[in-house]
Amino acid sequence: MSRFFSEKYAALTPYTPGEQPRERKFVKLNTNESPFPPSPLAVRMAQAEAEKLQLYSDPECRDLIEAAVDTLGVNADEIVFTNGSDEILNFAFMAFCDESHPALFPDITYGFYKVFAELNGVPYREIPLRDDFSIDLRDYVSVRGTKFIANPNAPTGIVLSVAEIERIVSSSPNDMVIVDEAYVDFGAESAVPLTRKYDNLLVTRTFSKSRSLAGARLGFGIASPSVIRDLNTVRYSTNPYNVNRMTMAAGVGALKDAEYFESARSTVIENRAWTAAELEKLGFTLTDSLTNFIFAKHKSAPGADIYAKLKENGILVRHFDTPRLKDYNRITIGSAEEMKTLVDTLKIILK
Ligand SMILES: *Cc1c(COP(=O)(O)O)cnc(C)c1O
Repeated sequence: MSRFFSEKYAALTPYTPGEQPRERKFVKLNTNESPFPPSPLAVRMAQAEAEKLQLYSDPECRDLIEAAVDTLGVNADEIVFTNGSDEILNFAFMAFCDESHPALFPDITYGFYKVFAELNGVPYREIPLRDDFSIDLRDYVSVRGTKFIANPNAPTGIVLSVAEIERIVSSSPNDMVIVDEAYVDFGAESAVPLTRKYDNLLVTRTFSKSRSLAGARLGFGIASPSVIRDLNTVRYSTNPYNVNRMTMAAGVGALKDAEYFESARSTVIENRAWTAAELEKLGFTLTDSLTNFIFAKHKSAPGADIYAKLKENGILVRHFDTPRLKDYNRITIGSAEEMKTLVDTLKIILK
């Protein structure tokens, strides 16, 4: 730390991203990226845009919003696009948390929530999940505070039903609820329809997982027009050009190529079912994941050992070295071939 670093950040522990190795070609099952390249239409549209990079991008994101209106069934004033969904989550902490609106989220969830709370200097409370990693609704229903709920949750993959989300949202109309649907396209039900009924709900989504655009950085939020206006106030006060030209074009292409999207996500869902069944045969217990990853614990081999052995064999998964998670590994669902390599390698390792 230099002597110039502001005291307000001195104690900040930044988010630790999953490894992105360069030295060796790994089967990469550690950061929940898509195993498939982006839609060819998204690639073509982004390439064409490269030749206009001397010009700023459209701060109103009009092309993207039009494509979203056509494909996602939202109105133009109900959506805002951001630089990955991490950015809209940060905007939500900026916009909707303060001393009288502390942030509330589970003790086991997306690690960035705590980082954003600390970055923004807002009070927060981590609410323990039950032993089986499920949310106890009583911790959120009629409780004051701005609630952040990843649904499905990460790294467990476990979902709350939309009826349960609605109970939380409706029980406390003066408290914002942010539902992070980064993984919703892999089989869970979306809370987006509730945003027309409740103005205290923001649903966030990303193009990083189901739309194969993690490297482009594109996310969005859906909420009532007044909540979207607040988020735009924050956005225009930080970086109105937060979505660059190539990403904007790629996003339009990805939204328009519905066929590609459907095929990619149904392949992931099929590969998840196959992998889960194979891992169970090998003595793993899995949470009930509706995402593009599984969360697996072996009946005898420690999680850290499995992680290390897989890495030696060229397969990267994500291991969290915390008391409640250390027995598990989070394994991204890759292509059928990658999943076969994983299962074959595990068979050897566990011998
Ligand atoms: C991956 C992820 C995000 C962020 O994704 P971006 O790449 O920033 O869009 C947000 N929430 C959860 C739960 C995630 O797993």
